[in-house]
Amino acid sequence: MRRVYADNNATTRVDDRVVEEMLPLFNATYGNPSSMHTFGAEAEKKLRQARVRVAEFITADPSEIVFTGCGTESDNTALFGTLEAYPDKKHIVTTKVEHPAVLNPCQLLAKKGYAVTFLSVDSEGMLDLDELRDSIRDDTAIVSIMYANNETGVIFPIEAIGQIARERGIVFHVDAVQAAAKIPLDVNKLNVDLLSISGHKIHAPKGVAALYVHRGTKLRPLLVGGHQEKGRRGGTESLPAIVGFGKACELAAEHLPEMDARVRAMRDKLESALLQSIPEAHVNGGKSPRVPNTLSVRFEYVEGESILLLLDRDGIAASSGSACSSGSLEPSHVLRAMGIPYTSVHGSIRLSLSRFNSDEEVDYILEKFPPIISKLREISPFVQTTHAPKQP
Ligand code: PLP
Repeated sequence: MRRVYADNNATTRVDDRVVEEMLPLFNATYGNPSSMHTFGAEAEKKLRQARVRVAEFITADPSEIVFTGCGTESDNTALFGTLEAYPDKKHIVTTKVEHPAVLNPCQLLAKKGYAVTFLSVDSEGMLDLDELRDSIRDDTAIVSIMYANNETGVIFPIEAIGQIARERGIVFHVDAVQAAAKIPLDVNKLNVDLLSISGHKIHAPKGVAALYVHRGTKLRPLLVGGHQEKGRRGGTESLPAIVGFGKACELAAEHLPEMDARVRAMRDKLESALLQSIPEAHVNGGKSPRVPNTLSVRFEYVEGESILLLLDRDGIAASSGSACSSGSLEPSHVLRAMGIPYTSVHGSIRLSLSRFNSDEEVDYILEKFPPIISKLREISPFVQTTHAPKQP
């Protein structure tokens, strides 16, 4: 059976060139980068090269890159590390649509007595910058806002938000985990102090990520241990993964034009063909700027989980809401924050493409998808009208 992977916002396949670059780190250059001997020096050289590659990818200085174990750790370090550095400041600004890697620490901090403003979004998933401006207080320690939403792909105006935070002298953290490799990232243009990216979303392995720390930004470590990462993250570096991450960053920069053209064209084709062939289908966040690979679409009168199961039977991997919260049938907090009715949230599917997808795969999805929706609507207790697929 044909298999089509369209769940690239959950994780991505590791590029073969990344694997190739990593392999010698397991059995040849396996020293500890902190060791004084030649094995250590060779490993340290590889670490330095990877740091340069990651820094170049986001137009940073290598000294501003801290390697971490995952995007969640980068986000947690940004939040807890900033609050530790500013013990008198007790207020955080974030949004209702953040990934759990930011949302859950903020909810925890709220329970511990911090004041947290969770900014709303409109029906297209967009923020109100006046609400953001008004929310900032004298005791605001950090503004933490994502670049691109993992569920809808909606892009927030980070440069403008950065301007507001900078004018008020407040640390600005951006979770760019879903923006990296999809749109250009230039930390200098964006006015950011802290920025998270994660390896496994950009064709590097799982277990490696980075936090960009703008020079001079006060930050306490989350992991307190050895002097690795200039004391900003204790623990022996996972060198093979870091080297793979460096290569993946280099490749991501090379492939950005392809993402913007070929991958965007595939997503747009999927979107228009699904809307054309299936009645009562709507794109979540469709009127907002979005990253080029993501399509979140809701189908009335059907359950997203049933669609996923039937797609999976045809070899197609997609996602309903955030992959990180699958296993629970909680409606997506992102789509709920956009005011989408509970029942429609349950009928939402996310398709997320990568440069490894082909036109033939898009055609295969388009062949299988409409009959699945028709079949489910035939047996749906919620259907109020006839839902035969439209004739092309
Ligand atoms: N932030 C966003 C926007 C994400 O989509 C994810 C993962 O899905 C994360 C953070 C967490 O990254 P990681 O899986 O590397 O911990």
